[in-house]
Amino acid sequence: MQLNETQRSQINTQIQRLIKTDSYYGKIYKELGISGIQSQEDFEALPFSSKDDLRNAYPLGIQAVPDEEVVRIHSSSGTTGKPVIIPYTAKDVDDWAVMFARCYETAGITSKDRIQITPGYGLWTAGIGFQTGCEKLGAMAIPMGPGNTDKQLQMMIDLKSTVITATSSYALLLAEEINKRGLKNQIHLKKGVIGSERWSEKMRSYIRKELGIELYDIYGLTEIYGPGIGINCEKENGIHYWDDYIYIEIIDPKTGKPVPDGEEGEIVITTLVKEGAPLIRFRTHDISRIIPEKCSCGSSYPRIDIIRGRSDDMFKVHGVNMFPSQIEDLLQNVDGVASEYTVTLAHDDEKNRDIMILTVEAEGRVNFETTAQKIKELFKSRIGVTPKVTVVPVETLPRSEKKTKRVTDYRDA
Ligand code: ZN
Repeated sequence: MQLNETQRSQINTQIQRLIKTDSYYGKIYKELGISGIQSQEDFEALPFSSKDDLRNAYPLGIQAVPDEEVVRIHSSSGTTGKPVIIPYTAKDVDDWAVMFARCYETAGITSKDRIQITPGYGLWTAGIGFQTGCEKLGAMAIPMGPGNTDKQLQMMIDLKSTVITATSSYALLLAEEINKRGLKNQIHLKKGVIGSERWSEKMRSYIRKELGIELYDIYGLTEIYGPGIGINCEKENGIHYWDDYIYIEIIDPKTGKPVPDGEEGEIVITTLVKEGAPLIRFRTHDISRIIPEKCSCGSSYPRIDIIRGRSDDMFKVHGVNMFPSQIEDLLQNVDGVASEYTVTLAHDDEKNRDIMILTVEAEGRVNFETTAQKIKELFKSRIGVTPKVTVVPVETLPRSEKKTKRVTDYRDA
C-alpha cells in the first residue's frame, strides 16, 4: 500500500522533529544526510528502526521532545537484555486513547458498556491502554488487573460486566473457571477484547462458547503506543488499522524489500504524528499481510490479516520452517484435542538428527494412543515433519496469566 500525500507530509514532519534534536534517530538521520522524502522510493530507502536501537538508546535516548513535554513513560516486557523505554507527550497519550476508543467502537462497544480490564497495569502498556480508551469512549472501566480469579468473578457477576478484556490465556483460564463453577448463567458478558498474543481457532471457539460472547482481537505494541492501533470488525476478516496515525508496510524479513499487497511478510510500522518517540519503519517481527480488498463492513480503514506468528518464533526442523500457529491450526482438526500444547526441540547426536517432541492435551473420552498417531500422520502429510507425540489429560500443561511460551529449543544453533 503506497503512502498518500498526507502521510508523506506527516512523515516529513516526523523526520524534521527527529533531526531538530540530538535524539538517537536524530543523530543517525543527520549523519546519513536525510532531511525528508519526496517519493515512495525515498521512503523505502530510509533505514529501518528496531528494538535493538531502542535498547541501545536506553533509557531515554529516543526522546524527541524537551523533558517538560513528557508526561509518561512505558516500558516493554523485554524477555532478554535491557528493557525499552518509550516517552509519551500529552498528545501521544490522548492520541492513543482516541485510537483505543475507536477500537472499542469498531467492536460495537458503547458508553453504556461496563468493561472489566484484566491486563496488567504498570510500566507496560496493557492495562492503562484499555483503561484510557474506555474512559475516552465514556464506558465504565472496572480496573481489575490480572489474577485473583475469585475477586475477578465476583466483580464480573456483581457489577454485571458486559465486556471482558484479557490476554487469550487469561480469557481461557476465566472461561474454564466459569465452566467449572457453573457460573455461566450469572454473567452478563457480551464481548471480549483480547490482546497481545496469537491464539488458535480452537481456543477462540472454546472461550466464545463457554462465555457466550463475541470476540475481538486488538493489535498493538509498546513501541508504537501500545495495544489499540487496530482491531477486527464484526465481519471477522482481518484487522482494521488506523492509517491516520500509523503507516504499515509488509516486507520480506530476509531481504528487507516490501512485498506486493496481499503477500505475507513482516509488518513494519511508521508513526505519523507521534511526538515523544517517533519511529520510522519499525520492524515488528509480526508476520501478516495487507488485505487489499475493501471490507464488507463499509469501513474505509485498511486491513491486515490476523497475525500468523513472529518471524523470530519461526523454527526449523529437518530444514522445514514452522510457526507455532501452524501447529495450532493443525491440532484444531483433531477430535478431542485441547488448545494447549508444548514443543520441545532437541538434537540426537548419535543419529545426527533433530527431534521434535510435541505434548498435547486431550479430553478423557478419546483414546490417547490413536490420537497421538492421528497427530503424527497429520504432521507428516501437512508439514512434512514427523514429531514424537505425547498426549496428556486436559489441564496437565501449565496455564499462564502472561504470554505462554510453547516452544523450547535445546539444540545448539
Ligand atoms: Zn471491516
